[in-house]
Amino acid sequence: MIEDEEMRGFRDTCRRFAEKEIGPLVDSAEASGTYPRELIAKAAENGFLGLTVAEEFGGAGGSLLHACVMIEEFSRVCAGLGTPMLGLGQRLIPAYGTPEQVDRYLAPIISGEKLTAFAMTEPGAGSDVLAMRGTATRTASGWHIKANKIYATGAPISDFMLVVVYTDRDKRRDGLSIFLVDSHLPGIEIHKMDKLGHSSMETGIVYFDCEVPEDALLGEEGRGMAYVMSALEEGRITHAARSLGVARAAYEASVEYAGQREVFGKTINQNQVVQGKLSQMLIDLTSARLHVYSAAELFESGAPALVEASMAKVVASEAAVGITDQAMRIFAGVGYINDAPVQRYFRDARLYPISEGTNEIQHRTIARAAGLAGRG
Ligand SMILES: Cc1cc2nc3c(=O)[nH]c(=O)nc-3n(C[C@H](O)[C@H](O)[C@H](O)COP(=O)(O)OP(=O)(O)OC[C@H]3O[C@@H](n4cnc5c(N)ncnc54)[C@H](O)[C@@H]3O)c2cc1C
Repeated sequence: MIEDEEMRGFRDTCRRFAEKEIGPLVDSAEASGTYPRELIAKAAENGFLGLTVAEEFGGAGGSLLHACVMIEEFSRVCAGLGTPMLGLGQRLIPAYGTPEQVDRYLAPIISGEKLTAFAMTEPGAGSDVLAMRGTATRTASGWHIKANKIYATGAPISDFMLVVVYTDRDKRRDGLSIFLVDSHLPGIEIHKMDKLGHSSMETGIVYFDCEVPEDALLGEEGRGMAYVMSALEEGRITHAARSLGVARAAYEASVEYAGQREVFGKTINQNQVVQGKLSQMLIDLTSARLHVYSAAELFESGAPALVEASMAKVVASEAAVGITDQAMRIFAGVGYINDAPVQRYFRDARLYPISEGTNEIQHRTIARAAGLAGRG
């Protein structure tokens, strides 16, 4: 993408915010494994939390390209701390919520008063969403939700969650519904999970055995899967932008280090093997950038972009894994020590082939759409 003046200015704004407001919080948040809530208030003040929400709903009405730029710049500084700036709530509540749900849930997300999480995956249902066991059954005054959810990003610090469960298991895909569930209700237990990367972004196992009112249902009963699918393209493209930010951080750090580290009396970037590593990192980074922003442009044009979104997700996440791996080699011993940022980039990047639909599942999407999948 050749950025116009407005987009270049927006990127500068995001970069300045990331370096000034996110940067100083990274070490303590990563070491303690706790998300600094004050960052959300600052992001709200700067209008980032409603970036892609339409103006009629109190947002800034930005495009998916704006979202990618913001996420890339924030993730370049810290992927964990950048994570809650854009979630499914900002997409699904204005699209399918009632005016009351918009007031109660969306407005406080944009103002930074409430944090949200998305709880769909279960221990026995990750790639195969329809294998989930969680249910919501009707009661006299609303619904009873019974479900065990896992890996819910942000759940331990959330004020409410978007929870996907069956309201009619027999209908399979057409039997899933989404509920807006206050995280502090009696009958909800949230346990923080210890994980390899994104340490500053808290992830939870959540047990639901709780009552919610009738109006906790988002949109129509049985449309949950369709709603999730409606956000798939944007989700995959912004996920790819996150990979791009981490890959860029690792590349930039490597270039700088290779220019100052002296071995055998000369900087290591005078060595052709190291130059080859750096140039390959740049090639992979540039390829990822082309995929991410062309998929975002395609989406913005209104054309179907699912295949391009999946490709961008695969290319950018694999680039992040490869580039951060090469960065670890360039930094060698110093990179392995926990206060070096490159080991954080390396750990964070390992998530990207897994989350937002594993890369194997993206290949399945691409193969089916391209007519490569044989019939069996
Ligand atoms: C840190 C983190 C944060 C997350 N955040 C959230 C969140 O906020 N909300 C949420 O709901 N979920 C979240 N997830 C869950 C994530 O989306 C799942 O982990 C992911 O969908 C994969 O599911 P799984 O781990 O159960 O793997 P499985 O589905 O068990 O897959 C295991 C392996 O088999 C492969 N595989 C399975 N089926 C096929 C097939 N048909 N063809 C080829 N290969 C196949 C997979 O690609 C994978 O390699 C998060 C996960 C992590 C680790």
